[in-house]
Amino acid sequence: MLKPATHIVTGVVVLIVDLLTGPFLMFPILFVLPVVFSAWFCNRRLSMVLSVALPVVRAYIAAVHEMYHPMFFVISNALVRITVLCLLAYLVSRTAAQTRELNQRVKILEGILPICSFCKRIRDDQQNWQQLETYISQLQPWLMPRVRAETLRRIF
Ligand SMILES: [Zn+2]
Repeated sequence: MLKPATHIVTGVVVLIVDLLTGPFLMFPILFVLPVVFSAWFCNRRLSMVLSVALPVVRAYIAAVHEMYHPMFFVISNALVRITVLCLLAYLVSRTAAQTRELNQRVKILEGILPICSFCKRIRDDQQNWQQLETYISQLQPWLMPRVRAETLRRIF
């Protein structure tokens, strides 16, 4: 799992490379890297922030230091990049969330396979036999509202 700082640093490195190579070599396509990686490994919010912040910083630098670019093109380029990156951030983070959810479900279903037919205990990854309820509550700690109320009444 990559930390949020990694993606921010990647974004800054792309910005610096883009600036050092002058106005005619264009690198903003590389903004895709921190956006995609943060969407996959961290969260949608961070990748959305990067999707907006990187093109905005790039446009600001172009406006201040590269005077020969007309403002109209600077702003248009920034808007196009922000739109594409945000879309990418949304799609990648959604796919990542779906993948995580599927893995979770697969784990539950696989876990149910090695089950003792007598006492209904389940064998976990560490080859320990656990009660069915314990095992499932570790993977999936949700309770129906009615069940939760009944459980609380039984405990207290
Ligand atoms: Zn048994």
